[in-house]
Amino acid sequence: METGKTVGRFAPSPSGRMHLGNLWSCLLAWLSARSAGGGMVLRLEDLDPDRCRREYCDQVMRDLEWLGLDWDNTPVYQSQRMEIYEEAFQNLERQGLIYPCFCTRAERLAASAPHRSDGTAVYDGRCGRLTAAEGRELMKNRRPGWRVRVPEEERSFCDLLQGRYQENLARDCGDFILRRSDGVYAYQLAVVVDDATMGVTQVVRGRDLLSSVPRQLWLQDRLDQPHPEYGHLPLLLAPDGRRLAKRDRDQELGQLQKIYTAPELAGRLAFSARLIDRPQAITPQELIPLFSWEKLPKDDLVWM
Ligand code: GLU
Repeated sequence: METGKTVGRFAPSPSGRMHLGNLWSCLLAWLSARSAGGGMVLRLEDLDPDRCRREYCDQVMRDLEWLGLDWDNTPVYQSQRMEIYEEAFQNLERQGLIYPCFCTRAERLAASAPHRSDGTAVYDGRCGRLTAAEGRELMKNRRPGWRVRVPEEERSFCDLLQGRYQENLARDCGDFILRRSDGVYAYQLAVVVDDATMGVTQVVRGRDLLSSVPRQLWLQDRLDQPHPEYGHLPLLLAPDGRRLAKRDRDQELGQLQKIYTAPELAGRLAFSARLIDRPQAITPQELIPLFSWEKLPKDDLVWM
């Protein structure tokens, strides 16, 4: 792809059928890239062998196509990229940033304070203070996970929609897992490696991932990778104010397809995004000239 061109991405986790929240992010990520004359790549985030299946990957692609969204190049499967993640992991290891963590889930939670903005656990770094000999001893009985040691460093960036966001890596986020004890590479590592190797310049996704950005920016620096720009979308909520999740079966695409045609669903999503002033049927292609970041709402919204 030419340099200077926007390259957006779809990065669904194929752990089930697409639901409304995925479609919302995918439509707006696609509109943002295409309205800038940019490319769009597809990555199936199927790292977790317990949750992801090949047939879900195929279904995700059919669902995107059903809505009228397309992508360039061959889709990338995270499950086929272990060597690339291994290389990045070893690079960080050579920099002395990785240590084994022997804590069980219960110990981890006990050793944690809540993350400033998203309530996830901030690990207190206790396994990072073990000596090499202590580590070797523990290794005999337990397979460790692997964490990366983060510095006391403020990270701030300007989101396309949410504005400035800032975190102190050590205080607000803490040393985080890059590889699970079962050998599976963590989302934070894979996403950074993949966005760089796939030439992604613009990441558009749900606001629930906003607090991952400081970690991702820092990892990109450690791995000598460019920073993409980020746009974090408001979440779609159920009428009772809960976040729509995969367990809301009626928001799964299979169910939605019984109610809406593809242009009707695209129109309702575009209306929620304030790109059109009533929920009329319209194709993603027709929405391209109507897209602008200025129109999008910042706050979460209820899907009716
Ligand atoms: N795979 C993640 C999801 O489906 C998205 C990760 C990302 O966009 O960085 O929620």
